[in-house]
This record gives sequence, C-alpha cells and structure tokens, in this order.
Amino acid sequence: MSKKIPHRLYLTEDQMPKQWYNLRADMKEQAAPILNPGTLQPATVEELYPVFCEKLAQQEMDHTTRYIDIPEEVQEFYKMYRPSPLIRAYNLEKALGTPAKIYFKFEGNNTSGSHKLNSAIPQAYYAKEQGLTSLTTETGAGQWGTALAEACSYYNLPLTVFMVKVSYEQKPFRKSVMQTFGADIIPSPSETTQVGRMILSKDPNTGGSLGCAISEAVEKAVTTPNCRYVLGSVLNQVLLHQSIIGLESKIAMEMLDEYPDIIIGCAGGGSNLGGLIAPFMQDKLLGKANPRIIAVEPASCPSFTRGKYAYDFCDTGKVTPLAKMYTLGSSFMPSANHAGGLRYHGMSPILSKLYDDGYMEAVAVEQTKVFEAAVFFAKQETILPAPESAHAIRAAIDEALKCKETGEAKTILFGLTGTGYFDMTAYNAYLNGSMSDYVPSDADLQRGFDQLPKIPDIQ
Ligand SMILES: *Cc1c(COP(=O)(O)O)cnc(C)c1O
Repeated sequence: MSKKIPHRLYLTEDQMPKQWYNLRADMKEQAAPILNPGTLQPATVEELYPVFCEKLAQQEMDHTTRYIDIPEEVQEFYKMYRPSPLIRAYNLEKALGTPAKIYFKFEGNNTSGSHKLNSAIPQAYYAKEQGLTSLTTETGAGQWGTALAEACSYYNLPLTVFMVKVSYEQKPFRKSVMQTFGADIIPSPSETTQVGRMILSKDPNTGGSLGCAISEAVEKAVTTPNCRYVLGSVLNQVLLHQSIIGLESKIAMEMLDEYPDIIIGCAGGGSNLGGLIAPFMQDKLLGKANPRIIAVEPASCPSFTRGKYAYDFCDTGKVTPLAKMYTLGSSFMPSANHAGGLRYHGMSPILSKLYDDGYMEAVAVEQTKVFEAAVFFAKQETILPAPESAHAIRAAIDEALKCKETGEAKTILFGLTGTGYFDMTAYNAYLNGSMSDYVPSDADLQRGFDQLPKIPDIQ
C-alpha cells in the first residue's frame, strides 16, 4: 500500500527560508513597550546597547519590518542541521485510534538537542560582527547554554554561562557538553556577582532560578568591557529567529496540501511556540485562516493560565527592563520536584498580547500526565522526547482523543522541540514512581503577585 503522505518530509536547501518573519508587523495592536527600570519610561534602542549587541537590540524594537534577511553565514550554519523534518505521526494516530491527522516538527536533531540553536547562531553571529569579545548568558535545564556554547565556539567567542544551581547538580552531563564547546559554567546564584551574593545572603540554600541567573549574567555583561548578554527565550528577537520553525512547517504542509486546524506548542518563555505559530498566526491576523492555537504549560509554573498580565522584571534581581507579560512575579520559584522544564516566571510579551487579545488558548498540565504521554509517544514514534516537548504531546494526544469522540478528522500540528536524552533523571523519577505533581495554591501565587512592581499602564 502506498501512502500519499511520507512519514518524514524534508525541504531541500533551495526551499529553506532566507528571511525570518516578524509577527509584530501584522499585529493589530502592539505589545506594551518595555520600560527602562530606572526611569519607568519606554526604553529606547540606545538604552539597550550596553546590554545587547546593536543589531539584536534593533531587532528587539522593530515592530514594522515584516521580513528580515537571515545573514548568509547564518543560513549556511542552519544547513548543517536544518531543515528539520515535518513528521506524520502515523503510529501515534493508529495507537490512539483517532481520525485526526497528527504532524509534528522535530527540532531535536542537533547536538544541542533543541530548537535553541536556531537563535544561538544568529545571536553569536551578530556579536562577532560587532567586534564584541565575549558573551554571557543564563541557562536553566541547560539546552540554551549548550546551544550558545556551540554557537560561540563556532565564532570563537568566549562564553560564561550562569547555570541554575539545581540543574547544575541534577544534569552534570549538560555541563560537560557545554565545557566540551569551551564555555565557562558558574552555578547560580554565585558569589561572583553582587546580585548573586545578595540572593545568597537572603536564602543560602536556594536552588536558584532562571530569574536569578539572568540577573547575574546581565551584571557580568555590563561590568565587563566589550561583553554583552544574550537570552534564549522570551525576547522579541528570539521569537523572530525561531520563526524558521513555522516557516519551514508551513512550506512543508503546503507541499502536502495540508493546513493545520490546531497548532500546539509547549510554552516556557514562548520562543518555540512563537516561532512555530508565526506564519499561521499571520494568516489568522490577516483573516486568511483561523486555526486554533494552544500553548501548553506546566501546572507547577502556570504563567498563562493563572498568571497576571502586568509589567514585571524579567529577572529576580530586578536589573532588566520591565516587560508587560503574563507573569507569576519575578520572585516566583517553581517547586524543586518539578523536573519537566518550562520553569520561567514570565512569558513572551508578543504571545502575552496575542493571548490577552484572544488569538490563542492555553492549558496547564501536570507533570506525571506529561511523562505518561512522553513514554507512550516514545513507544509509537521511536523518539524520546524532551519533557518540555512532551507537554505539547500531551495536549496533541488529548485533542486527538477528542476527535475520536466526535469523529472529526482534524489536522493537528505540534512542535517537538527536543530530545530527552539529557533528562533521564526525570524519566527515572517517573518510571520508578517517585515523581509527584505539584500545583501551587492561590496563596503561593499571591506571594509572587504581591511583589509585582506598581506601574501605571502605558499604552
Ligand atoms: C527551552 C526549551 C523549551 C522552552 O522554551 P521556549 O522558549 O518556551 O520555547 C521547550 N523545549 C525544549 C526542548 C527546550 O530546550
């Protein structure tokens, strides 16, 4: 029996996108501007230059250029591991007995193990082009640090990574991969920065958080000559670079004569989701199509589903600009038993605005349910998914099961952002039954909300 649609569809090099798509150019209303933390006035692009490399600061503030050229050198690097395949999950469909057609875009086929390399490469490229001599960043689970270590090694840029302390202890092999690519790794919070020392003096046993690590990395960048800070999610520039995921998916689906009815992505800071949905959201904004778009987040760190849409700091030490976003408060620390990634307190301002305006939905799922879906998926499709990605799998399975009830043959597209090989401790906890679900109480969340900065709304 011949199948019309292949299991895996790869674009040719010629078909690969040569420009990123800037979703903001088609948004009816823009997200609220980021604010300078000193003046509480909208930040100017020049004010970002001490922290970010100039090209990236410009991309951060660019609300109008619809398509932005991918530098040729970056296109060449992309060709080492892209295009990523669009895969039809035939076996999963069969095992679920669903009439739905399930597609996923797999971003885990590179050494960094996730989509993060898509933005690490241009960020290191622009820094090198500007003549910077080092970069700093933070990493949580380690994927971003790994991707950036690869990119910096390629462009010969020294890199310091502040790694969230619990991950540093739980994921020693992530550290080794980063060190293989020459990065310097510091567990955060650390004694090497003023903000790290302050956080440690308040809570010496803290396991750290992304918010703390960001504060340390920013401090290191602004106090080191010719050094800048780079971030792997949340920012507008990162969503721009990640649009490569959605652009490739859309071309591939067009070749198959398909269009997704439902698009699903996991959401930590929102970069893979923002990238995957970008060209489909464009259709939605322009009235050309109306797919359902679903963000999936952990019940233990529920920024969209239980957070507040408010101005907040992007870090715990309150040194970054303020962004209006769905947030749990920059002091929020996810429970230590949460193994599934996606631990950031805030959410991309672009996605926050689109969610607030009703263009997308969000669901929160508990981690044992996520790992149940991960194991089921691994057996059907022979890919061991990252726990983060398995949030999207969970929601895709749930939607496919709804189709089974209603008999509707919907087309589902989800983002499979990474491989799970670095997360075997978490798989182990699930398999030996020691994993539990943690859902913060309203009172837990209120503590984070109480510390939100009081800022009058600026529109
Ligand atoms: C970092 C990461 C995520 C979450 O980050 P986003 O910015 O929300 O995309 C999801 N999956 C994997 C594998 C990751 O490494």
